[in-house]
Amino acid sequence: MSKRISILPEALTNKIAAGEVVERPASVIKELIENSLDAGATEVSIAITAGGRRKICVTDNGHGMSREDALLSFERHATSKISVDSDLENITTLGFRGEALPSIASVSRFSLATRETGSPEGTEIIIEGGKVRDVRACGMPTGTVISVEQIFFNLPARLKFLKSAETEAGHVGDVVARMAVSRPDVAFTCTSDDRELLRLQQSDLKRRLSQVVGRESVQHLYPIAGGGECATISGFISAPSLVRSGTESIYTYINGRFIRDKVVQHAVMQAYRSVIDRGRYPVVALFIELPPGEVDVNVHPTKHEVRFRRQSVVHDALQKAIEDVLSRSPWLPSPSATITVTKETTGQAYRERIAAAAQATLAMPPRERSFPEQSPVKGEVAAVTSSSRPSLCEPVAHFQTEAPQPQSTGYFSSLAVIGQFHSEYILCQADSELVIIDQHAASERVAYQRLKQQCQAGNIESQRLLFPETVELSFSEVAVAVKFNADLAGIGFELEPFGGTTVMVSAAPRIVARKNPLLLIRDILADLISFGTSAAFTEALDSLLSRIACHSVIRGAHLLDNRQIKELLQQMDQTDFAASCPHGRPVSHVVTLAELQKIFKRT
Ligand code: ADP
Ligand code: MG
Repeated sequence: MSKRISILPEALTNKIAAGEVVERPASVIKELIENSLDAGATEVSIAITAGGRRKICVTDNGHGMSREDALLSFERHATSKISVDSDLENITTLGFRGEALPSIASVSRFSLATRETGSPEGTEIIIEGGKVRDVRACGMPTGTVISVEQIFFNLPARLKFLKSAETEAGHVGDVVARMAVSRPDVAFTCTSDDRELLRLQQSDLKRRLSQVVGRESVQHLYPIAGGGECATISGFISAPSLVRSGTESIYTYINGRFIRDKVVQHAVMQAYRSVIDRGRYPVVALFIELPPGEVDVNVHPTKHEVRFRRQSVVHDALQKAIEDVLSRSPWLPSPSATITVTKETTGQAYRERIAAAAQATLAMPPRERSFPEQSPVKGEVAAVTSSSRPSLCEPVAHFQTEAPQPQSTGYFSSLAVIGQFHSEYILCQADSELVIIDQHAASERVAYQRLKQQCQAGNIESQRLLFPETVELSFSEVAVAVKFNADLAGIGFELEPFGGTTVMVSAAPRIVARKNPLLLIRDILADLISFGTSAAFTEALDSLLSRIACHSVIRGAHLLDNRQIKELLQQMDQTDFAASCPHGRPVSHVVTLAELQKIFKRT
């Protein structure tokens, strides 16, 4: 009989657990801050070197540990936070699995110094790759200092997956920001290579948010309060005018724990669905308090996911609480700001929300809002319908009126223009064919090809903004903005650091300079976060150019006059690949006379 199975040695099981808990420096910091908060700290400071790849140090003024506990804390499943089965149903601390310290210590050169309240001296423990090297007494204030050097030094496969120091520092900043929002009553400082990323005094939630999401953004946040017998909901949510292109500013907490949960996110997006465009996300800081038995946080070792006992009740309570604020539209200066809509699901409520959102859009400064200003189309361009439906909140860009182009005699300019349908499509005639042109796709293709040519010639036209604008970014976004600064300059953007996580945009590609370059830069940074490397920038250039093109042209319904239609058709003739937009959608569609006759049964 062969014996194939053996129990793995503890050092190896710790390394395996580390695979789940310790993904990168930011995840180490999350675990260490959780421990500090569980220990009742009122001050937590974080210092990293080389994005945390070289060194991470977290210092707190919590209750510390005795020597005996400190030694025990490195044992797997050693915790002071739960002790019997039933405790799992009633978790009130951030930690409870007793896995973080042994995991981190097994994949780094680790030291812990801690002094318990009332103890005359502290204890210092040095551990290397999970092995205790030294235990000694030390002098220190009450609290705990943990230092983690050379993470993954004994796990080369993991080390390879770490990104550049700036990227890792960005993730660390984001983690600290999330935890700082959860506990405004705790002071946090965070330094990266001796540069201060955050210095947050003890304060209230609103002030904390202004330090994390930016003072400018916080003016667009409104308090929320709601819930029912199963959950209490509080926090702040943004007006529809404050949106991001990613979910990074959706801060959601269950019983004080930052979570990324599909149910919660779905409820948020459902509430916002009719007031912000697809692909845009609000800024929210939502705190959901539930009896511990109503939620299971023991779903994943990182504890980012949760399971609700009554999922739909929580979902609906959250959605309703958000919709209550949105339907009141507290950002409106007009008397309609006092409308209270109670039955959210009624058509009336929905219509009022739409109306409120439209008003909010109208209340935006003119630069952000550019509805068509031309009078309805007259003369030979007979619009089939003259109704123009500006899309909500998203600025409807003006038709790109360029310097006169040389006359061309290609296919598109030879078409006889019939008119415009629904302010979105151009109808033309070519002999016995009806040609329908998607004006957005067409102008996007023209803009994209022009940008591409400029890019190949190395001279994308950049335009200095009359009034440079500042944009508040997440730490990850700042990290990519710094990393890709030269590349971004190559496509016309000039970005300068403006203190903290604020960046000043002083120039933008000329074709978007008068539109909304800030929204575009956010989209581009979100793309770059997913691309990662500089080599990928070149690979991704096409999609970035098509994004710029998309931002530069007609969106949604837009009335065009005859001159503008002719100009667009001419530009199409000077454009390669004019048959489809940069996303591959067709630009025009032909209906032949024969097809029409078939429809009308004339054949
Ligand atoms: P968990 O937090 O799940 O209990 P950890 O491995 O993170 O597991 O920590 C093990 C134990 O070490 C904790 O239960 C706690 O008692 C102690 N501990 C860890 N960090 C600190 C700290 N900063 N201050 C005081 N005690 C701590
Ligand atoms: Mg812990």
